[in-house]
Amino acid sequence: MIRKIWDSIKALVMGLGTVFSHLFRKTVTEEYPEERPLLNGFFRGKHHLESCAGCGFCKKVCPSDAITIVKNERIVEKYIIDLGKCIFCGNCMFYCPSKSMRMTDKFELATNSKTNLMHEITEGKIK
Ligand code: SF4
Ligand code: SF4
Repeated sequence: MIRKIWDSIKALVMGLGTVFSHLFRKTVTEEYPEERPLLNGFFRGKHHLESCAGCGFCKKVCPSDAITIVKNERIVEKYIIDLGKCIFCGNCMFYCPSKSMRMTDKFELATNSKTNLMHEITEGKIK
């Protein structure tokens, strides 16, 4: 019985020791969304497209079949990424021969409508 009480007190003191030791450490969490997280340059968020040649390589290397390119002869009329399918692997950016595709640090993409996930990009402009 005394042994059990002793073990409980020991566990309590150790627990409190752990809690108090964290009082003096640097905070590692952030007050999101009040504070925006600092993302490194390798972050892959919402896509941005500029001067697309319409070659279609990105569509070929997309593992999720998330890209739709509508062309009128040699002109890209529509470039649509279904963000509901996209897994943000970055293939479309890495394999673009003209480096037209870039992935930004925009990550707040939650929506209650699938239609809003159809990310239509026009030259140099994100809708
Ligand atoms: S990031 Fe990956 S999954 Fe998303 S559109 Fe590009 S290639 Fe497809
Ligand atoms: S984004 Fe790049 S790979 Fe995709 S169609 Fe345009 S130029 Fe080609």
